[in-house]
Amino acid sequence: MQHRVIVLGAGYSGAIAAGRLAKRLHREDVAITLVNSEPDFVERIRMHQLAAGQDLKPRPYSEMFAGTGVEVRIANVTGVDVDGKTVTVTGPKGAAQLAYDTLVYALGSGWNSQGVPGTAEHAYEIAGRPGALRLRERLARLGAGERVVVVGGGLTGLEAATEIAESRPDLDVALAADGALGDWLSPKGRAHLWKVFGKLGITVYEHAAVTRVDADRVATADGRDIPAAVTVWTTGFAVHPIAKATALKVTGTGQIVVDGMMRSVSHPDVYAVGDAALAMGAGDKPLRMSCASGGPMAWQAADAIAAGLTGGKLPNAPLRYFNQCISLGRKEGLIQYVTADDRARRAALTGRVAAVYKELVCKGAAWYVANPTFGLPVRRRRVTPDRAAKASAARASA
Ligand SMILES: Cc1cc2nc3c(=O)[nH]c(=O)nc-3n(C[C@H](O)[C@H](O)[C@H](O)COP(=O)(O)OP(=O)(O)OC[C@H]3O[C@@H](n4cnc5c(N)ncnc54)[C@H](O)[C@@H]3O)c2cc1C
Repeated sequence: MQHRVIVLGAGYSGAIAAGRLAKRLHREDVAITLVNSEPDFVERIRMHQLAAGQDLKPRPYSEMFAGTGVEVRIANVTGVDVDGKTVTVTGPKGAAQLAYDTLVYALGSGWNSQGVPGTAEHAYEIAGRPGALRLRERLARLGAGERVVVVGGGLTGLEAATEIAESRPDLDVALAADGALGDWLSPKGRAHLWKVFGKLGITVYEHAAVTRVDADRVATADGRDIPAAVTVWTTGFAVHPIAKATALKVTGTGQIVVDGMMRSVSHPDVYAVGDAALAMGAGDKPLRMSCASGGPMAWQAADAIAAGLTGGKLPNAPLRYFNQCISLGRKEGLIQYVTADDRARRAALTGRVAAVYKELVCKGAAWYVANPTFGLPVRRRRVTPDRAAKASAARASA
């Protein structure tokens, strides 16, 4: 009897985990199903580019996973029963229940309005493709001189403001940050940020915590009223509510709490990776929601599952950071070198070299996802009989 592994979500982390499992485990012993709502891979790290009018390369899962042994199922996950070990999905053929022996939860995240009044009605977001396309359409209708205010001074806000300003120099672009611009960066990184923002003519509102969004303006906690024909909301990500509705141990915000192997601390048959999971990194600090964390989390989970089924060694993926790669439009960039626990070092790479570096990182990430089993040594281990027996006993008693 095959061991059934279901991977929910085929973003950066889910697709990598599924591909790695397919390469590690023998096809006769495991059935790997990858469930995703969209039929093609969405390069989330390029959503600001999509919004600014650039077109992205289509990457259908049917091509990416052809011949890998991974069954791709295009369906929307609506619920998970971690005690019954089933997943409920709805697809073109209606609702269905899928049974698993091991689950990898990788449903990612969406935008986080943080409950600020007016965001749902008036703000645009770029955390996913539908939002980015909606903003793209709105920006295309804006006339010269009209105001775009990007709210959020984190990585996504910096990338969005510069991308929009560079592609539409006729617009009046501003950024509202609740702290100082790039206050977590090194002095060199901050200076470069100010230089690029100056060159692109972006107005910066610092210490501007936005507390309300209206159709034509945003209001800040300290009483400022900032005019905005379009408000782009980029103040972090929020996970989908599916995990919170299960018996899994989750954080207050709904991330699944996992151990060092990316295994749920409450349900050992469930692994969680990417934005959906709360895992500790270097210095015992939670890993940041990012592609940079999602990849190593996926390697760790896939290799831990393979080790558990075949008796191999437990993995030790590098759950740490090296740099923050920030695009500042297509011609400028900033690579901020960081410590293992994500604090800025003095060194930073700037300018066109940094833009090329960031572009290579984005291309590399997409290529890696699009070639899920490439380059991994073929070590399709057999699931050991006693471990398979344990798995089917667990299945029978479920
Ligand atoms: C504009 C922007 C720029 C960014 N830049 C960077 C960067 O430079 N570096 C970096 O490290 N990170 C960056 N990030 C963050 C990064 O994109 C995310 O952290 C990363 O995509 C998380 O990967 P994931 O696999 O957890 O989730 P995702 O990539 O979001 O994948 C989740 C998958 O699950 C699917 N899904 C969701 N819900 C359901 C459901 N109910 N049913 C079925 N399928 C579902 C989705 O379709 C998707 O395919 C950026 C994000 C944005 C928005």
